[in-house]
Amino acid sequence: MTLRLYYENPYLKEFEGKVLECRRAGAEWEVRLDRSAFYPTSGGQPFDTGVLGESRVLDVFVDKSGEVWHRVDAELSEGETVTGKIDWERRFDHMQQHAGEHMLANAAWRLLGGHTIGLHLGKEEVSIDMDLPEGRTHITPEELHALEDDVNQRIQRDVPIRQWFPTEEELKALPLRKAPTVTEHVRVVQIGTEEYCACGGTHPSSAGQIGLVKILEARPSKGKLRLIFVCGRRACVLLRKEHELLHEASEKLSTSVENLPTMVGNIQAELREVTRQRNEARTEMLLQGAEAMYENAPLREDGIRVICRQISGDMDGARALAADLTGRGYAVAALAAGDGPRLQYVVSRSPEAGVDCGKTLSQAARATGGKGGGRSDFAQGAGPAEMLEALKEAILKG
Ligand SMILES: [Zn+2]
Repeated sequence: MTLRLYYENPYLKEFEGKVLECRRAGAEWEVRLDRSAFYPTSGGQPFDTGVLGESRVLDVFVDKSGEVWHRVDAELSEGETVTGKIDWERRFDHMQQHAGEHMLANAAWRLLGGHTIGLHLGKEEVSIDMDLPEGRTHITPEELHALEDDVNQRIQRDVPIRQWFPTEEELKALPLRKAPTVTEHVRVVQIGTEEYCACGGTHPSSAGQIGLVKILEARPSKGKLRLIFVCGRRACVLLRKEHELLHEASEKLSTSVENLPTMVGNIQAELREVTRQRNEARTEMLLQGAEAMYENAPLREDGIRVICRQISGDMDGARALAADLTGRGYAVAALAAGDGPRLQYVVSRSPEAGVDCGKTLSQAARATGGKGGGRSDFAQGAGPAEMLEALKEAILKG
C-alpha cells in the first residue's frame, strides 16, 4: 500500500518515491509509488497537481484496494526513484478551504444544531449542505453573522489544529461531531477544543493560517440548508474584486458606496416615471394617427375595415388605439406592440364586425408558436412577428 506522506506532514512539498508500477491509460500513464505526498481526490477535497520527475501529474486517485495512482503525461520507468513536487499554491488553497469548512460545520453544529452532510470544494466556491432541526432550510441574517463571527474569532485566536491516528481506546473517548465513515485507521482532525472530526484530508497546523472565512450565501437546496463560502486567499481575492466593483459603480453614480442602494432605487423610480411618460406620449401620437389608419385600411367584401400593424408603443397604447379604431365602427384591429423578438398582441372589433377575436387570435398563436385568447370582441396574446401576418390573413379571409 502506498505510504501517504501527507498524513504525517501536510506541509511536505517535495519527496522521493520509487516507481512500483507504470501502466498505460489511453494517451497517458498511471503510476503507483511506494510513497507519495500527492493527495488523491477523497472526502470532498480535490487531488494535488505537480510533477513526478519530468512527468506532469494530471490526476491522483485511490483504487478499491487503497493504492494511490498518479495519472501522468509521460511514461516513468518501473524501479526508478523519482522526485515528486506538489503544486503548493493549489494544495495550500485546498487546506485553507478544507479547514475552514470544518470550522463552519462545527459552528453550525454548536449554534444551530446543524448536521453537515456533504462538502463540495469547487474551483471558485465551497459549499456544504446541512440538516437543521425541524427541517429548517433558511437561516436569518443574524444567524449567518453569528456563524461567520464564531469561525473568524477562532481563526484570529489562531487555535491549534491537530491531525493524527488515535488508538482505538483514545478514539472512543473523543467527542466526534459525526460518526466516522471508516472503521479502521480512523484519522481525526481536532481544531481548538471544539471540533473533533474523522477526516483523511489535509489541514494547516493552526486556524490562523486559514486567514478568513466569508459566507457568501445561505439558501435551501433539496430540503437542506446550503452554505456557500470561501476561505483564505480566495476570500481576500473575492473581497478585493467586489470592493473595486462597488467603487467603480459609486464613482459612475457620483455617490458613496453606502449610498449606492438608495441611489439605485432612485434611478429605478425615475426610469419607471420616464418610461411611463414616454409611453403616454407614444399613445397620444398613435391616437393622432388613428383617423388616417382607419380611413386607409383595406376593406373586406362585407365593408369591414381591417387594421393589422405593429405599433411603436406598449400594451396600453395598443389597447387605446384598438379602442379608438373599433369605436369608429365597422372595423377589426389586430395590433402588435413591443420591439423584442416576442411581441404583445391585441385583437378587437366593432360590434358590427362578425369576427371572433378570441378564436382568431388563439388559432394564429397556435400556428406560429405564440399564445393568446379572449372573448369574441376582445383578445390578447403574445408571440413572434409572424403572428401578425397570420392574424391579417385570417381576418381578411373572414
Ligand atoms: Zn478535514
